[in-house]
Amino acid sequence: MKLRNAATASAAVLALAVTATACGSSDKNDSGSSGGGNIKIGIKYDQPGLGLKQPDGSFAGFDVDVATYVAKELGYKPSQIQFVETKSADRENAIARGDVKFIAATYSITDERKQKVDFAGPYLLAHQDLLVKANSTIAKGTDLNGKKLCSVTGSTSAQNVHDTIAPKANLKQYSGYSECIAALQSGAVDAVTTDDSILAGFASQDKYKGQFKLAGLKLSNENYGIGLKKGDTALEKKINAALQKMVSDGSWNKAVTKNFGPAEYKNEPAPKIGVIVK
Ligand code: GLU
Repeated sequence: MKLRNAATASAAVLALAVTATACGSSDKNDSGSSGGGNIKIGIKYDQPGLGLKQPDGSFAGFDVDVATYVAKELGYKPSQIQFVETKSADRENAIARGDVKFIAATYSITDERKQKVDFAGPYLLAHQDLLVKANSTIAKGTDLNGKKLCSVTGSTSAQNVHDTIAPKANLKQYSGYSECIAALQSGAVDAVTTDDSILAGFASQDKYKGQFKLAGLKLSNENYGIGLKKGDTALEKKINAALQKMVSDGSWNKAVTKNFGPAEYKNEPAPKIGVIVK
């Protein structure tokens, strides 16, 4: 009799546990705490080598690997990650609205952005450069004055063109870099400008092989950070610890080789957490 009761009791416990698990996994909107729910992370969808939505619906790139590692350290399995596209001009708002818990999307740490969001990191140092047709004579920033140039709305790249690199260039601004690359290929623009990390990824795509070249200029320092809600210092600390661990356990180097190797992108060494290269 005693035994039967115990069996009934454990069956009841099991049923409860199953119900609880089912509830947890169906709660797709929980971007907040770790445990049963999911986490929403902002990435780019159109930047090969960094953040790319592939034809089968999966995601690949250095930012994706960094985001996945950080999420793991926060207690989330890859199956609990929901990637959300955050275009350059949408990033601060996506964080402020709570659309995403954090953003890993070639997101440079700047004083202006820090008025609206906080950053963990940096986790990569890139530099602004130019991508031109293989036979182009454009070789330096001032060659762009009077030329048609493409960059993305809300990026530091577009801002730097206006402020310093080539204020007299005819700058077209699209919502994503893939649109700029299409414009370069068709001849609608003479050059595309953004981070060398991004440009190298496009230039190495099979469909563009041999067509484009990078100028190899270091026009700026772009310190990539993980964007998060302003004032969430607890999350910032956790993400910084995760980034530090990613470097020390060799995962950062592995992600670099896997994602930048095919583009032959010569990245800078891993930055020190909290140290911004001006
Ligand atoms: N890293 C630069 C930025 O955050 C350019 C790349 C981008 O638009 O994501 O603005």
